[in-house]
Amino acid sequence: MHETSIALAILSAVEEKFRSLPGARRVTAINLRIGLLSLVDVESLRFALQVASRGTPAEGAEVNITLEPPLFKCRECGHTWEVPIEELKKVAEELGLLSAMHIYPDVILGYLKCPRCGSTNIEIIRGKGVVLESIEVDTEE
Ligand SMILES: [Zn+2]
Repeated sequence: MHETSIALAILSAVEEKFRSLPGARRVTAINLRIGLLSLVDVESLRFALQVASRGTPAEGAEVNITLEPPLFKCRECGHTWEVPIEELKKVAEELGLLSAMHIYPDVILGYLKCPRCGSTNIEIIRGKGVVLESIEVDTEE
């Protein structure tokens, strides 16, 4: 399952940050930013984090997730616009691209047009990937 490998990548980044903090005893919170285009199943991810963090300093940490709506930019005219994720999912589903988009969100770019000039030369400037924003820790007195 894709969420498990994401959880493992997050935990290894968490551990790296944790080790760089002198006196840190345990991780109390993990703050994540998730682009909606990555179609990550938040509940599966929370569960995978809970399971994979057992026996690590991040066990029992609170997981705070900020979901980021996708934002596109036209390379021809510079126009930026948002597309509701439900609409994108519908497009991807009709094209049979839903599981491809989960792994590689850019696949959707081939099927979108700039609403201002009609160009297909567009890029995703926000809304993909999973980013570890910060962690919170307990430290020794
Ligand atoms: Zn344009």
